[in-house]
Amino acid sequence: MKIFTRLHGAGLAILLIVVMGACGSFKELNDPDNQDTPATFVAATPASPTMQASPESPPADPDSTFALAPDSNLVIYGVEESKKVTRVSSYDILHTELDLRFDFEKHRVFGVATHRIRLSDSSPSSILFDGRDMDIDGVQIDSGSGAGKARFKYSDGDIVVAIPRDIETSEFELSISYTAHPMRNGQKKGLYFVDGSMTDPSRPTQIWTLGQPEDNQYWYPTWDYPSDRMSFDIRLTVPEAMQSFANGTLVSQQPQSEGLRTDHWQMNDAHLGYLAAFAVGNFSSESVEFVRGDGSVVPLMYYVEPAYRHQIDLIYGETPDMLEFLESNLNVSYPWQNYKQIAVHDFAAGGMENTTATILSDRVQHDDRAALDYSPRDLLMHELAHQWFGNYVSAADWGHLALNEGLASYMEEAYLLARFGEEAKQIHAHEERLEYFEESKIFQRPIVWYGYDDPYEVYDDHTYEKASQALGQLRYEIGDDAFFRGLNQFLREYGGMSATIGNLERSFTSATGRELAGFFSQWFYTAGHPVLDVSAGYRSDIGIYQFSVSQRQTDWGVPVFSFPVDVEVVFENRPAYRERVYISSRDTTIAIGVAGRVLYGSFNRYGNLFAEILETKPTRESISQAANDDDMLGRFKALEALEEATPTDAIRDVAIDRVLNDGHYFVRARAAELLGTYARDRKAMNALIRAASLDKSSKVRRQSIISLYNSDNPSVEGIFVDALADSSYRVVGASAIGLSTRFPQRATTHLQQIASVQSWGNIVELAVIEASQILATADAINLLTGYLDVAMPERVRSAAVRAMGAIAESNPELNGTIKKVLKNLRQDVHVSVRVAANEALDRI
Ligand SMILES: [Zn+2]
Repeated sequence: MKIFTRLHGAGLAILLIVVMGACGSFKELNDPDNQDTPATFVAATPASPTMQASPESPPADPDSTFALAPDSNLVIYGVEESKKVTRVSSYDILHTELDLRFDFEKHRVFGVATHRIRLSDSSPSSILFDGRDMDIDGVQIDSGSGAGKARFKYSDGDIVVAIPRDIETSEFELSISYTAHPMRNGQKKGLYFVDGSMTDPSRPTQIWTLGQPEDNQYWYPTWDYPSDRMSFDIRLTVPEAMQSFANGTLVSQQPQSEGLRTDHWQMNDAHLGYLAAFAVGNFSSESVEFVRGDGSVVPLMYYVEPAYRHQIDLIYGETPDMLEFLESNLNVSYPWQNYKQIAVHDFAAGGMENTTATILSDRVQHDDRAALDYSPRDLLMHELAHQWFGNYVSAADWGHLALNEGLASYMEEAYLLARFGEEAKQIHAHEERLEYFEESKIFQRPIVWYGYDDPYEVYDDHTYEKASQALGQLRYEIGDDAFFRGLNQFLREYGGMSATIGNLERSFTSATGRELAGFFSQWFYTAGHPVLDVSAGYRSDIGIYQFSVSQRQTDWGVPVFSFPVDVEVVFENRPAYRERVYISSRDTTIAIGVAGRVLYGSFNRYGNLFAEILETKPTRESISQAANDDDMLGRFKALEALEEATPTDAIRDVAIDRVLNDGHYFVRARAAELLGTYARDRKAMNALIRAASLDKSSKVRRQSIISLYNSDNPSVEGIFVDALADSSYRVVGASAIGLSTRFPQRATTHLQQIASVQSWGNIVELAVIEASQILATADAINLLTGYLDVAMPERVRSAAVRAMGAIAESNPELNGTIKKVLKNLRQDVHVSVRVAANEALDRI
């Protein structure tokens, strides 16, 4: 065993011993980039037989059941290159002109698509266009001497056009006249008509498109695969009273007969076909400018439904700052002519990054009250970042989609870190990881992956969250400057082109001079992630603090990972000891010699390492960490660990201290959750009552109210009733459910007070519906009936109907009343209401 010592802090000698239990080889464990600090150790032998567990030791049973192990149904995939589905085209589309008219009632698109074509050197005798659910009226080819009819065959979405044998040029114009039926089979693909006022008063009349991955072929014939770039002219003939929105710039508006108008949108720079998009409807808009230091400008446009025109700044106001962040950190100017954002009704995704023309879900349309609990920041940043990652540099095929989605998702986190600090970044990372870990219980696949049958399958948490966190891991390992240098190199090398994860790796290598093959291999080309069983604690028998780390993912066939991790040991009356150690074995013991009383040890300080970690350590240490750690996530995780421990007064006291005094809402909310398990404890309940009414964060107030659901404290009813007037919709919703659960006798009277509130995301409406279902009384049915008006949003109406169905089951005495209310809804205008009503009535 080779041991190095060093002086640390006020003369305290600290000894770090790393025992490589499994591999048994000597290994340098210090940060290779930090050679000016004395080297730390290295030890070849397995843990010494004298290291017996003492009473204060962490549990030393290596075979203890691991709580994070997935069940046996877990599927682990390889890259599956053999299923690679890359398509190769025999022609190039240089420019596309679309002329579109609409039949709002029958959901039809009448179009002429004119493509400027250049044939490949192979001089194909026919070329293929994708176009689903269309009637093709005719195809014409014009090679310069006038348009002539071309022969074509159309079946199963393939338009095969014969190239005339006597054509003298390889470049020509090809026009396809067609009628598209994008909603023919009840589908919502490519283009969607939102049926407005005539048939459905709860909705505006709109059209919007969503092309990714291969759905634009439902509204215009094209080569629908992300391997060809073309410029666009889109002409939309729309009712005079409506506005249009599309890629590029609105260059003219031409009045037509019958109250129509043709809007001409021009997209100068070539981009991928799936990024062509438009929307039509009634919107309010605002133009602003992003002005750079050199005076150059990016025009910005914000669109909302008219009811939200006063909230435009609340919704989109951060856009210029986001642009500034991306331009200055990526060091590549915004690549397109302008940037526009629009919110549309019933959008099938959160947002879609169409070049210069992002379309967003109407959920972004919120108000000041909703802003207490919600921000569209991450979504807006994600779509804006795609203008560089996805639109400017594009994934060569869907197997590399993480190039677009991972980078766009990671930019959300990079922005939070730059503008709102380390703790905002930690929360984003924590939440992304939880989401991916959840999916990883079902399957684990390499981020670069060809095992899909339909490209929709790659839109999962591996492509988004895992890739984003793997990029965060890369930044952690190579540092901020190297990370952004690598991204800049990548954009400069591949701007205007398609690329792969392999290209990204090479750009990083050439920008930083670092060999990253091992990093990319384990994070991008192999399934899984580090799943660590860590037991930590002070061993009084040998005077060391020890972290025993075991990579449990190897149990289900995922390889051992190599990674750095920050560890810390905090002492009473002495400076803390901090070290970044490198782990590359299945089992590793990090042992730190100590003199003085240890308060707690912390593995993965600041949560930089992307790993699933189950850390066990003495309860005394978790209590101390919850109270003292300057790392917000460290305090949060300590509270999480304490909820698993046997309840004691000491745990309760630290949770009370945190809920009332912690500087960060994320920790206060976690402490409130923990206190919920002390429902019979007067001190705990009093702290929650204070937090529920006084905390400045709506998230803490809401969690405190939920944690009070089980309390028998008599003042809770008053707290819940007061909270019905809270400024946060979520707090109001939580109180409504609390009242119906704990105080059913008087709940209906209180619920009536908030029954007419219209809230963002229908939070309050849906909570009153849930509360009514819990009450299951005749009065509750009356409350629910108020939500059935046809002008109410569809999801509110169908939730009310489902609640009535549930009441009919729990309280059959009310069946007669419910039948009467629901019988007229069997033929309702809203599909989901019809379905719910029929289901409920069939059960009664
Ligand atoms: Zn995206």
